[in-house]
Amino acid sequence: MEDELRVRKIRNGTVIDHIPAGNALTVLKILGISGKEGNTISIAVNVPSSKAGRKDIVKIEDRELEPQEVDIIALIAPNATINIIRTFKVVEKNRVKLPKTVKGYPHCRNPNCVTNTNEPVEPLFTLRSKDPLRIRCHYCKIIMDKKDIIKNL
Ligand SMILES: [Zn+2]
Repeated sequence: MEDELRVRKIRNGTVIDHIPAGNALTVLKILGISGKEGNTISIAVNVPSSKAGRKDIVKIEDRELEPQEVDIIALIAPNATINIIRTFKVVEKNRVKLPKTVKGYPHCRNPNCVTNTNEPVEPLFTLRSKDPLRIRCHYCKIIMDKKDIIKNL
């Protein structure tokens, strides 16, 4: 309840909770949110949390997330919960799951990778390790860590 008081309740949209402290802006980047979309976005950074010490929370009004977006969020925030809000009520609460593969994002860090040429080939990665986070490009087999992922979103 205390968390709810920090950021006002939303009517419809998505609340992403339990983001590791300091990663809220990366989550916005994953979602392609620049602030120019017109809907209200609330961000709480370094909120005290009984579970994790500190955490970030992002509330996005009038938007629900695509499964592909949730997969990338899971890489950056493996303990995040995604709450879908409709008329002020949480209608769905899901903990993210680390995907075995991610498609579409991030871009491969290898400039010569087929996914970075003009070929119509979408980035595709497989999860190699959870902690530390490592994903491997399906095409050029290069390994990317968390820093590489954030840099190439
Ligand atoms: Zn590649």
